[in-house]
Formats: sequence, C-alpha cells, structure tokens
Amino acid sequence: MAKEPKETLNPFEIAQEQIERAGKKLNLDKGLLDILKHPKRELTVNFPVKMDDGAVKVFTGYRVQYNDARGPFKGGIRYHWNVSLDEVRALSCWMTWKCAVMNIPYGGAKGGVICNPKEMSKSELERMTRRYAAEISLIIGPEKDIPAPDVYTDSQTMAWIMDTYSMNKGFAVPGVVTGKPIAIGGSLGRDEATSRGLMYATREACKKLKINVKGATVAVQGYGNVGYNYARLMDAELGAKIVAVSDSKGGIYSEKGFDPKDVMAFKDKSGSVVGYPGTKKITNEELLELEVDIVAPCALENVITSENAPRIKAKVSAEGANGPCTPDADDILHKRGITVVPDILANGGGVTVSYFEWVQDLANFFWTKPEVDSKLEGVMTRAFEAVWDMHNDKKVDMRQAAYMVAINRVVEAYRWRGIYP
Ligand code: NAD
Repeated sequence: MAKEPKETLNPFEIAQEQIERAGKKLNLDKGLLDILKHPKRELTVNFPVKMDDGAVKVFTGYRVQYNDARGPFKGGIRYHWNVSLDEVRALSCWMTWKCAVMNIPYGGAKGGVICNPKEMSKSELERMTRRYAAEISLIIGPEKDIPAPDVYTDSQTMAWIMDTYSMNKGFAVPGVVTGKPIAIGGSLGRDEATSRGLMYATREACKKLKINVKGATVAVQGYGNVGYNYARLMDAELGAKIVAVSDSKGGIYSEKGFDPKDVMAFKDKSGSVVGYPGTKKITNEELLELEVDIVAPCALENVITSENAPRIKAKVSAEGANGPCTPDADDILHKRGITVVPDILANGGGVTVSYFEWVQDLANFFWTKPEVDSKLEGVMTRAFEAVWDMHNDKKVDMRQAAYMVAINRVVEAYRWRGIYP
C-alpha cells in the first residue's frame, strides 16, 4: 500500500502556502500578503432540481470570486462529486495568478457543483445547469465574472448558461461565458487552446533544456479535453512520441508509442483507453513514474506528492491539470533537477483563448483559426520567457518564479488602485 504523504493535501492550504513562499521572496508587506491569501467573495447555493423520475434533489454549488484587481473575474465551472468550497477557493486563487502570469486583463474566480455528472441524464444536467446559472447570475456577467468549462463541463454546459442568463436579461449575451459553441459566439481554437498552449510551453522548456522534442517520449495522465488534445498536438505538430496515456479507469503503455487519435477512437467506443491493442495496462501511479522525457499530469490535483516525487523520472513535468503537484513535491523535483512547467503558466492557453473569445464577443468581430493560434503562441512564449527569466535571476524553481511574476503584476494593480476607501 502506498504510504500516506505527510504534507497537507487541502488545495486551498496549498494555494496559500504557494503565495506565502513567493511573497517572502518578494518581501511583500503583511497587509498585502493577507489580501492575496483571501478570496474577495464567496457564494454558496443550495438549489432544487427535478430529476427524471419525478423526485426533487437538492444540489450544492459554489462560485468564488478571488481577486479582481486586474479586471473582471474569470474562471471555469467544475462538476464533480469531490467539489468542496476549499477546492473551489484554491482553483479561483490559481486563476488569479494564471491570468496575471499570462498578462491578460482578468482577475480569478471558479465555480463548482457537487454532483456525479456520469450518473445524470442530459436533461437532468440541463436542468441542474440552468438552475445553478440562475442562482449565480446575481454575480456573473460579461463585465463582472465570466465562467468557462472545467472538469466534466463543456461547450454544451456553457450554451445552457448563456441561454439562461440571456433569457433573464431579455436579449442574447454571448460574452457572459467562454468556451461556447462557435454558433453562439465561441472562438475558433478554444476547444484545443489549453493543450495548444501546453504544447508551446513544453516546446519552450525543451528548447531551454536542450531536449530534442522531436522523438521525445511523453506520458499523459488524463485523456479528456486537455490530455487528449495535448497528446494529439505533441504528436502531430512537434513529432513527439506518445508512449503512455490514462483515464480514470487506468493507463496504457507502449515503448514504441501509438497514435493518440486512434486511442481516442478506441476510448469513444469502449469507454476507456485501457485495452487499446498492442499496449500494456499500467496504473495511473505507474504512468507518472515512467522513464520518459516529458510527463504531463492532465487530470486532477495532488497526484505528485512527497511520496512519489522521489521516483519521478521525467526531465520535464508539463502541468495540464491545476494543482497536480504539492509544495513538498515541488522541492523534491527541483532538487532532483526536474523542470516543472507550473500549471498557472503551462495550462494558461485555455484562459488566454477564453479572453480572445470574450474580446471577439464584445467586438462582434471574429478571427480566423490561424489568427487565434498565432496570438496564443505570442502570449504563451512571452509568459514563458518572463517566468524563465525570473527563475534564472532569482534562482527559484519555475513555480515560485511564475508566482513571483504573477504576484508582482497583481501588487502593481493594488499600488495604482489603492485600498478603498
Ligand atoms: P475532462 O473532464 O475533459 O477530462 C478529465 C480526464 O481525467 C478524463 O479523461 C478522466 O477520465 C480523467 N480522470 C478523472 N479522474 C482521474 C484519475 N483519478 N486519474 C486519472 N485520470 C482521471 O477535463 P479537462 O478539461 O481535460 O481538465 C483536466 C485538468 O485540466 C483539470 O485539472 C482542469 O482544471 C485543468 N484545466 C482545464 C482547462 C480546460 O480548458 N479544459 C484549462 C486549464 C486547466
């Protein structure tokens, strides 16, 4: 049995510790540090939904608006049975730093509903989404707080939220959410943006570390929106070799590598990547410890802890997921010379193209896919450079460097805005 790690796995305590660490390096005063360690506004909603069998079920949902010093709140909505207020707080906090490190004019927020979407019908999901949207519509809006998809929510979920909000306003408000279908104001390239950004960040890290990305071996944990598209793009655009992938049912490994698109077609039919012909079944834990050049955790939080960090063998950990690595594990990986491209930088491509989508909605003028991709590449490489320079100048690991870049930008906003009144 795996040993229990000693460090905290409470995501919000982790988020606060990360701020504390970066704040110390930046010599921030205590008052400012206290602001950064607390969410500005938290909404909890308990709301009834009529289920298909006629029963009424009460669900609990959250929307946490962490910080808006640099612009409107922005962040996804997660449907998961493990959603908790502390998880949503942590995710909203990470969104604040992510938007700042990407240098886009947003603050950070996050939402979630405690539910098991895998056991709900589409019409139950629609009713739950619409009622949750109505409950949080008090505090969301294109100029206030703009939700987006996260784990187990997608463009359909966003379409229902946009419609619910618009019905209450009496006119169409596409800018209230991002990650929408193209037909109602979505942006080209949004569906793969997180993964495309992660690919650019991985490419930049490989350049700095003199790793030839063509032929580099890659293991991807999580085969959803982020993990699958990342595997596909790394293979198709950079010529990397995908040797392992996984989902909630387990993982697969093949030294020779495989075609990520074919694996997805297999998963679509069978419900899992496990059993894909010509591969060996492995566990999610084993996947992270494979001898590969790049490991990409693209599922959930806290998968790399002080317990397994000593056994990670990859040269680069490219964090598609939010919060996959604990602070103690960060220290271990750093000492062992493993470069972590931290979540707030690595997966910032999603929110960047969400920002592009919102800009297009507000302007009612839409861009081509090459325009979206090249603007994303610019934002991603500039963010990577800023973090890499901080990492070199201050001799800190990449996560601390990303926090320092982000916190500096939020603090600068406070310096100009001052403390009201
Ligand atoms: P998704 O729901 O599309 O996919 C999640 C994947 O993880 C699925 O393949 C699922 O089977 C797998 N999974 C679930 N539990 C697992 C477990 N215990 N072990 C291994 N795999 C497991 O979600 P997504 O949008 O791809 O998000 C994945 C991660 O990326 C999350 O941490 C999310 O916060 C982060 N993220 C997503 C976006 C985005 O644009 N979608 C942007 C930034 C960050």
